Amino acid sequence: MTPVEIRERLDGLAGKAAACTACRLHKGRTQAVFADGSPDADIMFIGEGPGYNEDREGLPFVGKAGMLLNRLLREVGLDRREVYIANVVKCRPPNNRDPRPDEIEACKHFLVEQLRLVDPAVVMTMGNFSTKLLLKTSVGITRTRGQVYPWWGRVVVPTFHPAAALRSGPAMEATIRADLELAVRTARERLADPDAQAGGQEEPDSYQQLGLFG
Ligand code: URA
Repeated sequence: MTPVEIRERLDGLAGKAAACTACRLHKGRTQAVFADGSPDADIMFIGEGPGYNEDREGLPFVGKAGMLLNRLLREVGLDRREVYIANVVKCRPPNNRDPRPDEIEACKHFLVEQLRLVDPAVVMTMGNFSTKLLLKTSVGITRTRGQVYPWWGRVVVPTFHPAAALRSGPAMEATIRADLELAVRTARERLADPDAQAGGQEEPDSYQQLGLFG
């Protein structure tokens, strides 16, 4: 698929998300929040779901947690425009409550397609929701973070959610920075290794067939 076709497909999906009524979250949204960043990204970030500011602006991670994410990205040499940022659910849960299992289930096909189309070398899950969803684990983020997990021919590197660092302080911020450095290093290594790359190209078509997240 050419970069233009990939963009067109992502735009088409964003349009579907904007009109989606598959779960109760559509009732409270100002707009769906599909993604931000580059469809050519080598690293894709996955958060939980839009908050108040994201719902108003239609972009992920534009509130306080987003400001922190932007700064941490800059500190490890990344520009927000060169990565791809999405969430597990595309519509804001009321009062920023956790997304419910049926809401995640109804929304996850968008994320599957985003992963397939962007085809990043490294997926960085931020927080419990995206990490547990992709790794199919009930183990919490404190224990899963900071490691590289093989995942459908690519890798997942989990870290804390930036909102947790806002609550918890500089030590957690430093941990996220270290995890980001690991993600950047891992992406470079994988992009330099043709075998790892080939694996990454082959697998995504089968995400749904194989019951990804299932
Ligand atoms: N938290 C998230 O998980 N996603 C956003 O887009 C904003 C805050």
